[in-house]
Amino acid sequence: MHDRTMLVVGGAGYIGSHTCKALALRGYEPVTFDNLVHGHEWAVKWGPLVRGDIMDRAALDAVFEHYDIQGVIHFAAYCYVGESMTAPGKYYRNNVAGTLTLLEAMRDHGVRPIVFSSSCAVYGTPTTPVLAEDHPQWPVNPYGWSKFTVERMLEDFGRAHGTRHCALRYFNAAGADPDGEIGEAHDPETHLIPLVLRAARDPRKPITVFGTDYDTPDGTCIRDYIHVSDLADAHIRALEALQAHPALTVNLGTGTGFSVREIVDAARDVTGIPINPIYGDRRPGDPSRLVANRTLAHSLLGWEPRYTDIRQTIEHAWSWMERDPE
Ligand code: UDP
Repeated sequence: MHDRTMLVVGGAGYIGSHTCKALALRGYEPVTFDNLVHGHEWAVKWGPLVRGDIMDRAALDAVFEHYDIQGVIHFAAYCYVGESMTAPGKYYRNNVAGTLTLLEAMRDHGVRPIVFSSSCAVYGTPTTPVLAEDHPQWPVNPYGWSKFTVERMLEDFGRAHGTRHCALRYFNAAGADPDGEIGEAHDPETHLIPLVLRAARDPRKPITVFGTDYDTPDGTCIRDYIHVSDLADAHIRALEALQAHPALTVNLGTGTGFSVREIVDAARDVTGIPINPIYGDRRPGDPSRLVANRTLAHSLLGWEPRYTDIRQTIEHAWSWMERDPE
């Protein structure tokens, strides 16, 4: 039995699979538990895959009994903001009730550390240009509330049962494994960078810029795009930081924002293909600017983004997309 076995719940997904690779490179054995609704079997390359659902307590018990799990990294969640508005029950059931089932299984099997994928969506509408962890929280969609609620559960399980948690509030995950072994493959794809690159590859699928009248220098929304391999690295650091800290909440972003227009321009440079966007209306629920204050990630986890050139991040996403014939 491996004494550094970690359960990666949702390990077949985009960020989960990159984290499995980072775990394996650091000498851990990642055991992926994934229902494969949005995850991919081909993305599980660095350890065993157990197909199961976090709402299935018996399946979770079986994993905890079979493997000597030392800690959990939990990615399994639905993450489409728009869908959460029209199907909130799906988000509360899977993201909240499913995580509760996982936490109870951890409690009963004596597994304490958990690194949880939270989101900058817990803040809601920003009141400051850069978001620190103590920014007020009032999510504006059920997806954000589901992450907010799990953060509360983690605090309560910590107090009552000794669970040790690190909630990582991601900004916009982007890019792909620099070695090209894995990458983003959402279905449906709703994220800006893969859609811009798809538009570069296929002019019949143009990119629509959602809103040009925001209160930003060029009128389009600003986001903080963090390379997925940097995100993965932060998870290992979070896991290790839990040996010294019982409860952590940390933003993961680069601290630099790019507008939608800037992303389109950068994608033009990277691909060498003229990309002609359609300028459309705002997408409901989009704040004009989401940029992380990353001071805590540095002081608590010793984490710094390695990939700060947005062109390089887009280049990795582009290389990954070029491998995919679809
Ligand atoms: N966006 C856009 N067109 C698209 C998809 C996204 O203009 O087809 C914008 C969106 O309004 C937001 C930014 O790109 O300002 C990033 O959106 P994404 O869905 O990638 O991530 P989110 O910030 O919603 O998590």
